[in-house]
Amino acid sequence: MTAAAAARQILTRLHDIMASRMHAQGKLDAVVEIIGEALDSEVCSIYLLREGMLELFATRGLNKAAVHVTRMALGEGLTGTLVANNETLNLAEARAHPDFQYRPETGEDKFHSFAGVPIVYRERAVGALNVQHVDPRKYEDVEIEALQTTAMVLSELIGNAELIDEEEVGATEAQTGPVTVEGLSLVSGIAAGHAVYHQPRVTIDQVVAEDIEMERQRVYRAFDKMRDQIDGLSQQAEFGKGGEHEEVLETYKMFAYDEGWSRRINEAIDSGLTAEAAIERVQQRTRMRMREIDDPLLQDRMHDLEDLANRLLRIVSGQLGTAASQGLRRDAILIAKNLGPAELLEYDKRRLKGVILEEGSLTAHVVIVARAMGVPVLGRVRGLRGIVREGDEILLDSDAGTATIRPTPQVAEAFDARFAKTKERQAAYAELRDVEPFTRCGTRIQVLMNAGLRDDMANLPLVGADGVGLFRTEFQFLVSATLPQRERQLRLYRDVLDAAGDKEVTFRTVDIGGDKAVPYLASGEAENDENPAMGWRALRLALEREGLLKAQARALLEAGAGKRLRVMFPMVSEPWEFDAAKQVFDDQLAYLRKQKKLLPDEIQYGAMLEVPALAEVLDLVIPKVSFLSIGTNDLTQFLFAADRANPKLAARYDWVSPAILRFLRRIVQATVGHNIGLGVCGEMGGRKLEALALLGLGIRRLSITPVAVGPIKELVRQVDLKEIEQAMTGFLASPPASLRDALENWAKERGIDTQ
Ligand code: PEP
Ligand code: MG
Repeated sequence: MTAAAAARQILTRLHDIMASRMHAQGKLDAVVEIIGEALDSEVCSIYLLREGMLELFATRGLNKAAVHVTRMALGEGLTGTLVANNETLNLAEARAHPDFQYRPETGEDKFHSFAGVPIVYRERAVGALNVQHVDPRKYEDVEIEALQTTAMVLSELIGNAELIDEEEVGATEAQTGPVTVEGLSLVSGIAAGHAVYHQPRVTIDQVVAEDIEMERQRVYRAFDKMRDQIDGLSQQAEFGKGGEHEEVLETYKMFAYDEGWSRRINEAIDSGLTAEAAIERVQQRTRMRMREIDDPLLQDRMHDLEDLANRLLRIVSGQLGTAASQGLRRDAILIAKNLGPAELLEYDKRRLKGVILEEGSLTAHVVIVARAMGVPVLGRVRGLRGIVREGDEILLDSDAGTATIRPTPQVAEAFDARFAKTKERQAAYAELRDVEPFTRCGTRIQVLMNAGLRDDMANLPLVGADGVGLFRTEFQFLVSATLPQRERQLRLYRDVLDAAGDKEVTFRTVDIGGDKAVPYLASGEAENDENPAMGWRALRLALEREGLLKAQARALLEAGAGKRLRVMFPMVSEPWEFDAAKQVFDDQLAYLRKQKKLLPDEIQYGAMLEVPALAEVLDLVIPKVSFLSIGTNDLTQFLFAADRANPKLAARYDWVSPAILRFLRRIVQATVGHNIGLGVCGEMGGRKLEALALLGLGIRRLSITPVAVGPIKELVRQVDLKEIEQAMTGFLASPPASLRDALENWAKERGIDTQ
């Protein structure tokens, strides 16, 4: 009989037992008989976790009286060790192993050889399946594989028969213990919750195949689909930038088309497994092999292969959704390699407490969205997905740039204390809600907030901002499955203006494109952009898709009826673009006038200054606009030629550095004496040290993320403008080696808190 046929025979017998009406204990008893027989072993035993201890649940060959009597702690004896380490043991002489322990009640003294595999349930080792022989012998690969496959079947039984309490699954957390990872704080704040993978691992409901040919067809089809997806990935935004995408794609392709991989999966199906179980089985084997090789480069590749295997599993099982589509059941810390802004918006804000990414950068749109949602984000955590398991408890301290996974009680206690302090600080900021931000020298600084969703407006009274300095209208487009029609836009804008009451709101026309791709629009054209951020996006797209801008113009003009309306155009690079966009509004205004509709009392049009070219023609633009708002997120990426979404560049370019600050100062100087409003609406303005620098350049209006309003108000109240202006003049005339350090020291000497 071939190995596959033998394996199939075992699986068929296991399948019959699983399908029988026997109770769970009866099934376990039958399983040890089948495996014992098949491997011709004198002993076969099953241990499962109960109340934190591994308990002998079933045996063939050991004293039956030991069943439900013999118990051992994790890490104790061979069984405890293999479960604690989640590893297979294959020993010709069990006694020679340092962890060997003799249990007299089992009568196992006469057995020399030992092989054991962990039973894994929900990614955690919760038991063991062991065989023992009198003769000293090393087990063959096919025998170990038969054990591993049986362990998978047992894991299915555990799930169905509720042999293990949910708490037991949690109790094995000790097996890897607490780990603290470090990363880059992308959105500050601290949070606690349980790990949720954005793309959850697939649950395998059935391990044993009913119809092998059908399983083979299923896996063929899934491979085809996966290969198509991988071939198509090069078009997608997440792979479209970063320079690394070629390499990443090549690796993906190499794995996707790897004959060896598909052959091994087919062999596993031949042995009687379902397509899902076969993929997982092969993956387990690969994981084991990789673990033996201590090479970080290979470990990285392993992540790619895991990704791909997971993708294949999702396709074959039809479990395609992200964790958002399944809903969050408790406080969650989201784990992902990277996310798009729209993907993040799909999560339930009340349950989403934090995000940890392997990639990410400060001004990536997903990070801006998270900031707007008040969700702390830790980014650029290396090897994250190899450390965290679904459901792990996580304490995220983005302020310190760390996250502790599976914390000890002591760490949790210290965290609680920090949590309380942060709450206190927030409460102190909340007290500033009704305090107007005057500098020490008596100048009123405008502190506004950025928003993008209807819900965000609730923050306006909460943080006490002067208004909304940037309403990102594209968020509505990002969260919709289809293009939002004019009526829906109108409703949103009306609601926003109503919520703002007397306070001003500046609506920015859609800035779609770049990393804010929407599937129903622009995909054909934008996909061809090699550099989407510098491609067909924002006003460029809106001016070409005139219908889109017309609809938005009308919606805004109608929403602003009887009020003051402020409209701002993104990515204006040349003055004519501003004219063209304004013309669309003028035409719609004329139309509404003809229709005798109520019009806005006043309309102010402005431009975002985020493309450096515009700064060179300010003399031409200033006469046209009511206001200019500097978008430092895009401006810096263009000025430094550094993709704002590229994690590798995230920490390289500093806002507090001469190039960007001198550039901004020139803009401020060019507007002096003209009657236009000038402000900053990029993320830079929401950081204390950066805001201090901006005040020193003459900026008097900041539109920032809501959570930063309190801290920035506090900063403003500590500043004497003359002093900081003088300091900045000095720093920019002859910049110190580190302008950031110098400014920090300057602030510290004056007791200004910039942290
Ligand atoms: C900016 O570029 O600074 C900005 C505020 O716009 P966004 O981040 O939406 O591109
Ligand atoms: Mg921008």
